[in-house]
Amino acid sequence: MTQPLLIENAAQIVTPLGKKAHFGREMAELSVYENQSILVEDGKISAIGDVDRIGRGVPESCRIDAAGKAVLPGFVDSHTHLVFGGYRPDEFLWRMGGMSYMDIMNRGGGIVNTMKATRAASEEELIRHAMDHLKKMLAMGLTTVEAKSGYGQDEDTEIKQLHVTRKLNESQPIELVSTFLGAHAVPPEYEGRGDEFIEFLLHQVMPTVARERLAEFCDVFCEKGVFSVEQSRHLLTEARKMGFKLKIHADEIVSLGGSELAAELHATSADHLLHASDAGIRAMAENGVVSTLLPTTAFCLREPFARAREMIDTGCAVALATDFNPGSGFTFSVPLMIGLAVIYMHMSAEETITALTLNGAAAVDRADRIGTIEEGKQADLVILQYPSYKFLPYHTGVNIVEKVIKKGKLVHSAC
Ligand SMILES: [Zn+2]
Repeated sequence: MTQPLLIENAAQIVTPLGKKAHFGREMAELSVYENQSILVEDGKISAIGDVDRIGRGVPESCRIDAAGKAVLPGFVDSHTHLVFGGYRPDEFLWRMGGMSYMDIMNRGGGIVNTMKATRAASEEELIRHAMDHLKKMLAMGLTTVEAKSGYGQDEDTEIKQLHVTRKLNESQPIELVSTFLGAHAVPPEYEGRGDEFIEFLLHQVMPTVARERLAEFCDVFCEKGVFSVEQSRHLLTEARKMGFKLKIHADEIVSLGGSELAAELHATSADHLLHASDAGIRAMAENGVVSTLLPTTAFCLREPFARAREMIDTGCAVALATDFNPGSGFTFSVPLMIGLAVIYMHMSAEETITALTLNGAAAVDRADRIGTIEEGKQADLVILQYPSYKFLPYHTGVNIVEKVIKKGKLVHSAC
């Protein structure tokens, strides 16, 4: 048995409760305990209560003073493209200057740029870059992060990206959830032959990914001009037979029907949803699909935000994630995301916290063991510098995470 850990006398312990995503009105329901402590044993939360009751016998060296501070569940980033080669700063500024998508492509920008750099990069280079990002993500309170492949679009590079994710998972504190996104774009080798590319993924690449357990989820970029609803349905249906859980990049650029498809397939999550239809929103709510919104991407693309307020009012389970990637949104700023959610998407502070914790955990199928502060759950915790969770949106855009605890171990301290 490892040493216990006591987080004592927190001004607030703030958490949603339960082991499933919270839908609709439930999202605003947080439990707030004042001046209470959390006892952690063997990496799990074993008690929450008065320090005199639960802290007896815990040595001084195993105590963290949380007086004047709020404690929340560790944040879950359920949608990132963490592993990639190269950067695209020029392209960002071209876009801000008003250049069209096609002009950017003609200048050598776009996803092909990242694909080439990722194909050319060694595993060591990819690890070094991702590791640098993960350290900063941890400092923002992210304790679980999903990571997609999808910048190889050939067998070797897709497998290389997934191997890198596996190695990163074993060598730093953040738990990584691996997703296969071979169907991120149709690569130049298959131009105009999207159907053939999907068969190539299904028969040539995914059997290896499944056999070596390199990814838990399969995802697809279901979008006009990329993969159609029919192609996405075929890929995901076959993927499920191979043992993958399902995610969809849905309705980002046009209202194509990706959210309806996610509902039909009972996918774990549908992501982006800037143009999800009313019927798609209802279908996600009725079929238990987590609606994952990525406000920093819309912000960086200067696009209108997804309709979070209507989704929650319709009964959806909204999760918030960063979509960290080198093209459409080179940021994993949790403070910025919280600010955008509250200021522009009209989510309450309470809903925002549920979206970043329990619903994020549900979006990676881990709500039974992370995402809340409850006895028996893994001790993934964030300690804020301030006494209330309300400082998260209020101290806009500033990182106020002071300490991060993963599986009961202090893994980051800002002071
Ligand atoms: Zn994405």
